[in-house]
Amino acid sequence: MMRGRWRKLGATVRPILTDIPGSSLMSLNRSTTSHFSSATQEINEANERCLGSVQINRTADGRGYGIFAMRHFAPGERVIESIALKSFDKPHSHSIQVDWKSHVYIDLPARFLNHMCDPNLRAQLNDSNAYDFVALRTIEEGTEVGHDYETTEYELSEPIQCGCGSPKCRKVLKGFRYNESEILKTHDQQVLSPYLLSNKAIRLT
Ligand SMILES: [Zn+2]
Repeated sequence: MMRGRWRKLGATVRPILTDIPGSSLMSLNRSTTSHFSSATQEINEANERCLGSVQINRTADGRGYGIFAMRHFAPGERVIESIALKSFDKPHSHSIQVDWKSHVYIDLPARFLNHMCDPNLRAQLNDSNAYDFVALRTIEEGTEVGHDYETTEYELSEPIQCGCGSPKCRKVLKGFRYNESEILKTHDQQVLSPYLLSNKAIRLT
């Protein structure tokens, strides 16, 4: 059942707000985050907001936090929405990429989504320049949900060693830039972030 088993070289999940380095950050909306006095409070708030839908919980195999479905989801159904709390022009280990030079720090629970090489969610760009996460297939209650980091990240800030156990596992994740051919063998192009399908001539190499 634990589809997303993986180990990151460094943090195991995109961590909590208080873990983020403060330098060189451009805050989009500090007031959005400042009312959380602790990580636990932020998790509790997210779990209350998403009650009956998804829940942040510790994984049984010690990977840290994961997101679990609290009900059945049908393919195409929106499972999690997110908003951008901060924006960066370079990737860091806790950001998600929305454009060639735009990386955002999203709210919980989506920030705690684990990577899956054979994901049950896809990231869909939303109106707030963050992502909603949509079911790629039927998701049963209790299942961990996750998405494929390399469908949004052109180049990860640090490599991730994946142990998800899927026959499709790419083992080492470095970003779409490095695994494009493998990703396109197993994923439909529609799961890619729109910017990855945009003008490739402006890629930041
Ligand atoms: Zn994997």
